[in-house]
Amino acid sequence: MLPLFQEIAQDVAATPAASPARDAIIQASYLAASVMFILGLKSLTRPDSARRGMQQAAIGMLLAVIGTLLNQHILTYQWIIIGLVVGAIAGYPMAMKVPMTAMPQFIAFSHAFGAIAATLVGVVEYRELLAEGHLTHGLAGALGFEVLFGALTVTGSFMAFGKLQELITGRPITFKGQNFVNVALIAVAFGSFAYLIYQPTAMWAFYTVTGLAFFLGISMVLPIGGGDMPVVVSLLNSYAGLAAAATGFAIGNNVLIIAGALEGAGGFILSVMMSKAMNRSFGNVIFGAFGAPPTASAKKGEQREPKTISAEDAATQLAYAGSVVIIPGYGMAVAQAQHVCRELHELVEAQGGSVKYAIHPVAGRMPGHLNVIMAEAGIDYGALLTDVDDANRVLSSADIAIVIGGNDIVNPDADDDPASPLYGMPIFRPWTSKVTYVIKRGKGVGFSGVENPLFTQDTTRMIYGDAKGVLGNLVKEIKGLNEGH
Ligand code: NAP
Repeated sequence: MLPLFQEIAQDVAATPAASPARDAIIQASYLAASVMFILGLKSLTRPDSARRGMQQAAIGMLLAVIGTLLNQHILTYQWIIIGLVVGAIAGYPMAMKVPMTAMPQFIAFSHAFGAIAATLVGVVEYRELLAEGHLTHGLAGALGFEVLFGALTVTGSFMAFGKLQELITGRPITFKGQNFVNVALIAVAFGSFAYLIYQPTAMWAFYTVTGLAFFLGISMVLPIGGGDMPVVVSLLNSYAGLAAAATGFAIGNNVLIIAGALEGAGGFILSVMMSKAMNRSFGNVIFGAFGAPPTASAKKGEQREPKTISAEDAATQLAYAGSVVIIPGYGMAVAQAQHVCRELHELVEAQGGSVKYAIHPVAGRMPGHLNVIMAEAGIDYGALLTDVDDANRVLSSADIAIVIGGNDIVNPDADDDPASPLYGMPIFRPWTSKVTYVIKRGKGVGFSGVENPLFTQDTTRMIYGDAKGVLGNLVKEIKGLNEGH
């Protein structure tokens, strides 16, 4: 097999280096790939076209790979094939097996490898250009930038993976003089980077930037709590994109510049949006010791016991409800209750009721988590209320709101307790409906670690149990009611 590829490589290498036809094909495939990336991103903005967006982006990547493989600078395909096989053998089972709830750490893990690739390309390219005597100020700048952001992303992503996977503590790790150490690291790294641009052949400066960037990745993520890791992962994604764009400048590859810039901008925008939806200050996420699991809301009132309702009674009310709003949260994803939820939805509609879903931007543990879960169950996009204000309007006239495995996204303290860590976060207000059912296993707190006064309000009824089991019981009861008639 390998000699065959060797032969292909020799053939490709034997064709004139400046073959205009081949060059045109390469550039055309890069252009088509860039267009597909942009179209893919556009399609990803709506859940109903998101699947198509992923397919468009994947076709774009295939075109970019084909264009790159036609490049006359590739002398042997042997290592490319080996890398492809090893990567596929390791990556495919991982991607198939990893549960949706572990996606953030999986993404962090794969970013780290992308960043290793960018850093290695930067180092090799620098050494080659240095040996050939072709290093310009601009090229040194691009390569310095590439290894700075690449190396920082490698260690930062591994740290984020470790925190999310709980291999290391999710609490912020701080020590005395930490800010001084960070500022010193940044100052020396950027100082060396500036010197590298001034003096491109200063090898020590190049390796100082690379080495310090590895430390920077660790020291920047250390003081950030596990809770804010998804924001950090998305920010590191943005850094990896910037490193890729710099690689594009260094090796003269247009598709890398475009794809890297898209990733850089996309990751940054997503980080800012996530910070806002989680009511976190973006500056704090990046610079501060931040995100420690908060202890409890400062508001201490008399302890009330939540009221419960049986599945039988809840089913009877649901069977006669005119309008129902379902608010799915992290527990829905954990229980994988989306399919049975759809069954319940269809039963309520068959009885003449209307069903909508209020999907919070940070419900679950990754951006769009609950959109994906509901789409997987085949829930029509038209039934989803993705704007918090719109959803609250619909909730205020609903007969029944059902919170399924949600907690922080429906915590009233976000509206009225300035001492709560959730204060200011836009939330759903199911208590404005006539009655609220909350399905959860027990008295467990949500992601933020604070109590939720919704559970003890007069119009709230708890239905304790695993979301899938409880919804299954409700479905059984409604079917039983129908058969009884
Ligand atoms: P949440 O506040 O974490 O609450 C989830 C609730 O689900 C828990 O209180 C738990 O209570 C219940 N639960 C767990 N397993 C269950 C099961 N099998 N069946 C039924 N219930 C179950 O979730 P959320 O309301 O979706 O809020 C998301 C939180 O994550 C927000 O604070 C958000 O800021 C944060 N966050 C989001 C993202 C993102 O990108 N989406 C990223 C990072 C952090 P019991 O233990 O009593 O069952």
